[in-house]
Amino acid sequence: MKVVKFGGSSLASGKQLQKVFDIVTADPARKAVVVSAPGKRHSTDTKVTDLLISCGEQYLRLGEAHDLKEAVIERYASIADELGLGQDIIDTIRQDLDTLLQADSSRPECYLDAIKASGEDNNAKLIAAYFRHQGVEAHYVNPKEAGLFVSDEPGQAQVLPESYDHLYKLRERSGIIIFPGFFGFSLAGDIVTFSRSGSDITGSILANGLKADVYENFTDVDAVYAVNPTIVHEPKEITELTYREMRELSYAGFSVFHDEALIPAFRAGIPVQIKNTNNPSAKGTKIVNQRDHTNGPVVGIASDNGFCSIYISKYLMNREVGFGRKVLQTLEEYGLTYEHVPSGIDDMTIILRQDQLEEQHIEEELLDRLKVVLDADEVVLERNLSLIMVVGEAMRHNVGTTARAAKALSKAKVNIEMINQGSSEVSMMFGVKATQEKEAVQALYEEFFSMSTVPVSL
Ligand code: ASP
Repeated sequence: MKVVKFGGSSLASGKQLQKVFDIVTADPARKAVVVSAPGKRHSTDTKVTDLLISCGEQYLRLGEAHDLKEAVIERYASIADELGLGQDIIDTIRQDLDTLLQADSSRPECYLDAIKASGEDNNAKLIAAYFRHQGVEAHYVNPKEAGLFVSDEPGQAQVLPESYDHLYKLRERSGIIIFPGFFGFSLAGDIVTFSRSGSDITGSILANGLKADVYENFTDVDAVYAVNPTIVHEPKEITELTYREMRELSYAGFSVFHDEALIPAFRAGIPVQIKNTNNPSAKGTKIVNQRDHTNGPVVGIASDNGFCSIYISKYLMNREVGFGRKVLQTLEEYGLTYEHVPSGIDDMTIILRQDQLEEQHIEEELLDRLKVVLDADEVVLERNLSLIMVVGEAMRHNVGTTARAAKALSKAKVNIEMINQGSSEVSMMFGVKATQEKEAVQALYEEFFSMSTVPVSL
């Protein structure tokens, strides 16, 4: 049995839904279908989820959001129209949105989560109606009824382990299950969403719960590429990679698959297959527990910007018991998460996402506090860094990968601000100035993947 998930761009129009229908019905093993909300039809379009967020926020502010609500309904109406579905489904969606907008807003994050989640919820209802209209038995399944319970962390939900046993019972259902992605219910009965792009997570949870043989994730690219295609022209496709490699790449900037979506499938030993709705015969990328490492030490290179570093130095830091605890405790007091902590004898650098400091306007306060708490000689913030992750499990068995990477960067005249490699050796991190990110990625790609790369012009 297969669990199949379709992303927003695969569900953005009636034409896309016809492709989805053909894909699902081409294979009787495709029993459960997880859907996102309608995404962008073209590059300047707005995703339904983003319309819903604006709509809910405006309603909270002004007590009305007529135009935005109509814009959401119009997206569904145009899909229903294209597919020849009747008015009933649009009436249902309108009623649902009215109820949600007028609901209790005393906990604004919960109120907004319910509105956000309606993007996938209503899309699942519409898609089930379309399948039935085509003469195929299909049922919308509500996550509450199915027992998908999550932690009560709006916008950051995590699945509760008892959900898996509940979901297993869906195997007994007849017909195709159409399941909305992106949210579950708290034990108190409230809708709570996963982080953005979280329908991938729902698909993985359902694959685990149903004990599927494979989790197919349909998106709009032929495969996961070894590097961002806007940085290197037509990069190599990755045909197979491990869960750990994919998680590293997703976390470090690859947007094809949510970094939190691997664990449920991984725990149940279910392979994940990434495929293209617009080109379903393309081989795609398979994510597995183990793979052979015949094609070089590096499987992919990811990069992302918007990081800063806090450099802390203090003479004899090496002898001071509890120094690291004080640093991390201070970050915790400000609710900050960090990415890496490279360190030396008398210094330590904390790398974190810059927007966390900007949102809270705490930069000066934080630096002063660190200086006082640690009695540090120096605490210096450096902004606008990019982190580049060179990922591949085979690095563990290869001598000289770091040397090759460093040489490639030096040849491209990229200054390495920081370098970090954990003992797991599944990835290697280079911190560079954001202005040098593209050159750095191109140089590394050239070194590990190609003798003649065509860089995308900078
Ligand atoms: N629609 C949600 C978002 O845009 C979730 C998803 O598409 O996976 O984040």
